Amino acid sequence: MKPIDELKRRLLEIAHLSSALALLHWDQEVHMPKKGGASRALVIAELTGLIHQKLVALDVDRVLTKLQLAVKKGTLKGKDKVIVLETARTFERERKLPEAFVRDMAETISKAQSVWATARAQNNFTLFRPWLEKIVALKRKEATYVGYRASPYDALLDAFEPDMTTQEAARILHDLKDFLVSFLKELQSRPQAAKQRLSLKATFPIAEQKKFNAVLASEIGFDLAAGVIEESTHPFTTNFHPHDVRFTTRYRTDDIIHAIGSTIHEAGHGLYEQGLPAEHFGTPLAEAVSLGVHESQSRMWENMIGKSKPFWRYFYPKLKKQFPEAFGKITLEDFYHAINRVTPSLIRTEADEVTYNLHIIIRFEIEKELIEGSIAVRDVPLIWQSKVKEYLGISVKDDAHGALQDVHWSAGLFGYFPTYTFGNLYAAQFFAAMERELPVTALLAKGTFGPVREWLRKHIHSHGKRYTAGALVKKVTGEPLNSRYFADYLKKKYRDIKK
Ligand code: ZN
Repeated sequence: MKPIDELKRRLLEIAHLSSALALLHWDQEVHMPKKGGASRALVIAELTGLIHQKLVALDVDRVLTKLQLAVKKGTLKGKDKVIVLETARTFERERKLPEAFVRDMAETISKAQSVWATARAQNNFTLFRPWLEKIVALKRKEATYVGYRASPYDALLDAFEPDMTTQEAARILHDLKDFLVSFLKELQSRPQAAKQRLSLKATFPIAEQKKFNAVLASEIGFDLAAGVIEESTHPFTTNFHPHDVRFTTRYRTDDIIHAIGSTIHEAGHGLYEQGLPAEHFGTPLAEAVSLGVHESQSRMWENMIGKSKPFWRYFYPKLKKQFPEAFGKITLEDFYHAINRVTPSLIRTEADEVTYNLHIIIRFEIEKELIEGSIAVRDVPLIWQSKVKEYLGISVKDDAHGALQDVHWSAGLFGYFPTYTFGNLYAAQFFAAMERELPVTALLAKGTFGPVREWLRKHIHSHGKRYTAGALVKKVTGEPLNSRYFADYLKKKYRDIKK
């Protein structure tokens, strides 16, 4: 067997095990009975260990080394070259981490998460503090093992947004912060129209909501013959193969907008996964480029499309028809204003489009400094409070609504937060490029979503990891990632809403 075919065979084995693992996680969140947790954790640990073994065995018989040499010599090109380079990237990272370290990290994280949950419930940062200190120390150690050029945070960011540097991320986010802080003040200085205070609360039977959400997801193109929609406390998307992609959403009886937002967001992730080329399954060519690019797909559908007027010009009559009591007397214009209210708040997951990224910037600035060692864990609550006051203009009432609100740090996810904002920036940049080629507004108003979905498929989904995120955004939009398109999008939309 040729070395490249041998590598593909080994990768496919890993992909099959990973699909099984993903199915176990899916079941755990969606169907597993309460008492199943402990035994499930053992099955997951067993399978995770097996996958790790297969990963570190990728270079047995020097298969990978030989292929990397062929790439260097220029004898291996095109898609095969991408497979080798991207596999080598994962392999190198995995190989550099000693097994004892991986075990220590896994154990610490699993204990820290339950301590964090208690600390948050009791609003007690001191309880979580020693655990966060241990995790920060371990993450700094991880950065040393993996290696970095300028900042240890580089090594952590790279796991989620390959090739993005701390310096570049800091520059992009700093530009965005300057804009957002002043733009928020501008919006707040304009009086709030009565229609923006309109409440959309009513009673929405869950069965009816489910019907509406399924129609929504399938009309924008989520293929229900290759996908499933279920419920869970924290909505998420998972995939076993481009032909089996699943996501969850969450329903509240008094609020349908919440479920609609989650559904469109996750369907956006799902469309990306369904759009990956099935013929390359198992290789990096059928994997998403980065978390930032993944998030761009969910946020473009959720916000730029799903909270736009043309989109609701098409869907609002349907919503009214299904829920006449709640929406019968509310005009499209009033509905549109109500779903696009801008109000600074303390909780990230409930933030609007304008203030959301300030929440992320606060987390990025703090975690970067923790990893670089320029601030200490014990200072986090106070730094958090002062940044929230400075950027959002509001006061943090307690740590449960401050530094303890997110699960990420207890799960060891340092370097993850900025990808949420990169997602918004990529989305705006891709969307502007799409608008140069397609009459997007007119298509959305007619409910003709096919051309939009196909554009995303052709330019983004179908490539898998063929291009790095940096190369992809340049290829599709002609520019490196920047905050200008997102700022322009917000200005146009919200100056019109608050005129
Ligand atoms: Zn998402």
